Amino acid sequence: MTDSVNQQIVYLNGSYLPMMESQISTQDRGFLFGDGVYEVIPVYQGKLFRFDAHIQRLKNSLQATSITNPFNDSEWLEMLENLVAKHDWQDQYIYLQVTRGVQMQRDHLPADCLTPTIYAYTNPLKPVVDNIIQNGIKVVSLDDIRWLRCDIKATTLLPNVMMKLAAKSQGADDAILITREGNISEGTASNTFIVKDGNLITPPNSNEILPGITRMVIESIAAEHNIPMIEKNITLDDLNSADEIWLSSSTKEALPVTQLNGQAVGSGKPGALWLQMREHYQQHKQKFIESQL
Ligand code: PLP
Repeated sequence: MTDSVNQQIVYLNGSYLPMMESQISTQDRGFLFGDGVYEVIPVYQGKLFRFDAHIQRLKNSLQATSITNPFNDSEWLEMLENLVAKHDWQDQYIYLQVTRGVQMQRDHLPADCLTPTIYAYTNPLKPVVDNIIQNGIKVVSLDDIRWLRCDIKATTLLPNVMMKLAAKSQGADDAILITREGNISEGTASNTFIVKDGNLITPPNSNEILPGITRMVIESIAAEHNIPMIEKNITLDDLNSADEIWLSSSTKEALPVTQLNGQAVGSGKPGALWLQMREHYQQHKQKFIESQL
């Protein structure tokens, strides 16, 4: 057991070893082509949150990219639980990556029968800082410059990195992305929600967004608490006139956006429905921690 980031233990291709000792081949297709997929899974008090949904999404990403799934579901769970147990942090988040593997001759066409490279490590999961809870975050809207398979959780994240940099250069914390058709897709690493006249609205799942697990959790909490929830396309005009805007992801849960393109969103403070959702979300996590699941 360790509690220092410097002594982090990682899983690489069948072994648990110190991060400083983990090495992969320069001919790994993940390194050369970004030819791989990944997952990020939150862990509350040692328990993997929504493991089934995360592993199903991983399987979908592997299948869509024709990368061999090296494990069955219980093998994935066992490996990840072992990794978590090697760290003392109460809450953690696992980063898990599978690449197509090592191919000595660089070729866009993958060779047959490659052995996937499996890498996982875990980090302490810290609560969102108070300043964000009190004041929210600033975003800008940017053209979504990504490809048409954003439903695959691919390691190839160069457009996301470029858009995050563009947001930062405009003094914002993040960006909300606008598709070529003029609809909101999502954030650079999150799904998007707006609140309008008491309705919670999010774009439908499609090839233009990642089917977020947190988005799914928020939907189920909304249903449980009779919060009207609609899946429909959101335009930039809708975004501009929203009462509230949220971004959701596994490590940040739902974050309130209080400034869009330099203008206040609603009152300029985190909104009433977000506060309510935050409360419900914490209760939902607590129930999960206490459950036998
Ligand atoms: N959309 C993108 C592009 C992401 O990278 C992420 C998470 O990293 C999400 C949405 C949110 O997904 P989840 O809630 O499963 O973390």
